[in-house]
Amino acid sequence: MLIITCLNQYKLGMSMDYFPIFLNLKNQSCLVVGAGSCAARKIELLARAGAHMTVVARDISSQIVAMQDTHQLTIHQKTFESSDLQGFKLVISATNDEQTNQLVSELCKKRGLLVNVVDNPPLCDFIFPAIVDRAPITIAVSSGGVSPVLARLLRAKIETMISPTYGMLGQLAENFREKVKQTLQQPANRRIFWENILQGRVAELVFSGQMEAAENALEQALSEPERSLVGEVYLIGAGPGAADLLTFRALRLMQQADVVVYDRLVSSEILDLARRDSEKIYVGKERSLHTLPQPQINDLLVMLASQGKRVARLKGGDPFIFGRGGEEIETLIDNNIPFQVVPGITAATGCASYAGIPLTHRDYAQSCIFVTGHLKDHCVNLNWTQLAVPNQTVVIYMGMVGLKQICQSLITHGSSPDLPIAIIEQGTTKQQRVLSGTLQTLPDQIKDETIKPPSLLIIGNVVTLHKKLQWFEGRKI
Ligand code: SAH
Repeated sequence: MLIITCLNQYKLGMSMDYFPIFLNLKNQSCLVVGAGSCAARKIELLARAGAHMTVVARDISSQIVAMQDTHQLTIHQKTFESSDLQGFKLVISATNDEQTNQLVSELCKKRGLLVNVVDNPPLCDFIFPAIVDRAPITIAVSSGGVSPVLARLLRAKIETMISPTYGMLGQLAENFREKVKQTLQQPANRRIFWENILQGRVAELVFSGQMEAAENALEQALSEPERSLVGEVYLIGAGPGAADLLTFRALRLMQQADVVVYDRLVSSEILDLARRDSEKIYVGKERSLHTLPQPQINDLLVMLASQGKRVARLKGGDPFIFGRGGEEIETLIDNNIPFQVVPGITAATGCASYAGIPLTHRDYAQSCIFVTGHLKDHCVNLNWTQLAVPNQTVVIYMGMVGLKQICQSLITHGSSPDLPIAIIEQGTTKQQRVLSGTLQTLPDQIKDETIKPPSLLIIGNVVTLHKKLQWFEGRKI
């Protein structure tokens, strides 16, 4: 009980305490109260943004005096008073005198001036982020004041990911911005053009320091922009549920797609990883309630890609395992739409791993077979003789409705009534539950249970290993 209470204090995706914005401080007057090493650090930062700074302090450190010329500081050696705030829009209090800091904060708030008191978030309107400077690209990282060290560690990680040449790429974009705007009048076309340029050959040329070649390549692309405007469909396997089971490729493509078309099995945790401003289209598919029939989904993908959009078609698990991915790309091929297919972890392997049930095992199963237990005319039509063989694991997708029939048919075709079977409910997610029994007992055992979709059946002697090998803490029952 105690543990649950503690864990509940930690939530994913808490609301933001501070909203990040970027201020234009060029030639703006800023006041720094205090003139020690903290003040010096802030002055260095503001100077990089082109601010005009005035320093008010009783004692002026030699460090600040040394900055006077380089940063054209106006320095007043005096005690701070309210009239000092006149004419400034942004104020930093960096004194080691709490009363002065408090006074500066109060007065600024009264006058509607933006104020920062160093290392004292309650007195601040804004806080300083950890900055990755790749001008004109700037990345700001903040922990909302709760852990500046964590923000700095993250900044260090980002520094290693974003090479300094990104700044040059930004400058190239700036130089061509107007020209591209004139050539491509539609904002949507411009965006697709830029996305292709900034991720394609031009970017690679910049990264290898060949600025002239990059400019030529950009000119060339601009002379035939329609070639950069074709859309593409990414048919992506989003895995069984846990977001960190996505592949790197899936994540990269999701983050560059303009539209995300997804169905019920794709969790909100995964959707949150798609590009923030991408359009999200739900095409459903509950067990018997089809939100959009398959042919219409196929046509939708063609329509979106024909508009030049990059479409991430997200499917639960793997798109080529009971995912009708084949039908979707067939329509794309018929319509000359470029596409790529990204495999995903299918429910069988995801659920098996997270339930501690190896699908094959030297002592229990030398083969494994995946089938669908989907009902057709109220019947599960499967090749029972092929399924009821010893030393084999059978994984049944969409088998919950037909569970009773499945167990009965296997027994009729020679499986032992004592053959172990497991239901894995919402596998790989925090809600995962594993219920196990035998072909004989399980249907009755779960009569009073509500089994939530999606659920998977694993049948075979490997199921006995679950008790020993389970490692993932799902929902406890
Ligand atoms: N293409 C998907 C399967 C789609 S069919 C894949 O490769 O996994 C839908 C069925 O998959 C569901 O009815 C259920 O049987 C199974 N399934 C998908 N995700 C699951 C999960 N997280 N836990 C249990 N079963 C799952």
